[in-house]
Amino acid sequence: MKMDEAYWYGRQKLSEADVEEAKVDAWYLLEYATKVSRAEYFKDPGRELTKEQELRYFLYIEKRAQRIPLQHITGEQEFMGLPFLVNEFVLIPRQDTEVLAETARDWLNQYAKEAEASEKALRILDMGTGSGCILLSLLQDVKEKAYAFEVEGVGVDVSNEALQVARENAERLELSAEWVHGNLFARVESRFRMIVSNPPYVRTDVLDKLQAEVRFHDPRIALDGKEDGLYFYRRIVEESRAYLEPGGCLLLEIGYDQAEAVTELMCKAGFSEVKVKKDLAGLDRVVSGVYDI
Ligand code: GLN
Repeated sequence: MKMDEAYWYGRQKLSEADVEEAKVDAWYLLEYATKVSRAEYFKDPGRELTKEQELRYFLYIEKRAQRIPLQHITGEQEFMGLPFLVNEFVLIPRQDTEVLAETARDWLNQYAKEAEASEKALRILDMGTGSGCILLSLLQDVKEKAYAFEVEGVGVDVSNEALQVARENAERLELSAEWVHGNLFARVESRFRMIVSNPPYVRTDVLDKLQAEVRFHDPRIALDGKEDGLYFYRRIVEESRAYLEPGGCLLLEIGYDQAEAVTELMCKAGFSEVKVKKDLAGLDRVVSGVYDI
């Protein structure tokens, strides 16, 4: 089969299966199966696939048509410009979550200016770290900036399988962090300057309405925020106070309709400078605040 025929075949198959980005995904899988880039493709669209490439490509298209996420086929997703391994045990990093990582990075930069002379290590906790994408992208940024003070990262997850993925990601990116297996703060020790979290926040009754890729392939424990979607915010906002240094900050990703409720939780718990930030689509995405008491 020729490359252009393969592409059209894949695109058609994926459209029929109601895959949202049929065009893009067909390209991506063709590239992944053949290792031929798009630029090379356009030089010679009539290039023949080898038998092996063809088999691989058909298999990928078949999987994708069954609504298996692209990232579970390729095993990877980019986040903050870095490649992360993913599998069915971790939430696939979302572009929306980059707003959380960027907010955390900006906060760190600000902190760094004030703390240039500080001897103390700066400690960051990522609650429900999953693939480790938030913590590791922050640590990568810190590494590039080569601050005078030390930065230590701790990632917590209730899933051992998720932590295994986070560990592998750290190893691949040549970053070091501490990984803690435990339910929320149960096994966390000491205090942190910053706590970040993208907790499960989808209301249980909404879970079955999500698109097939998310509903059947992202881990449910990474999505299910229980009855009103706010369960983990209540726990994290309340309990984080005992794990923040004075003046430390808490940054949370939220769903588009949760800004008011989470802001209220944080204000009631004694956080100050509580702010909401929007994502690229203009939807509320991050709530942050400082704990000064
Ligand atoms: N934004 C995610 C989704 O609906 C939800 C992530 C979460 O619960 N933390 O795909």
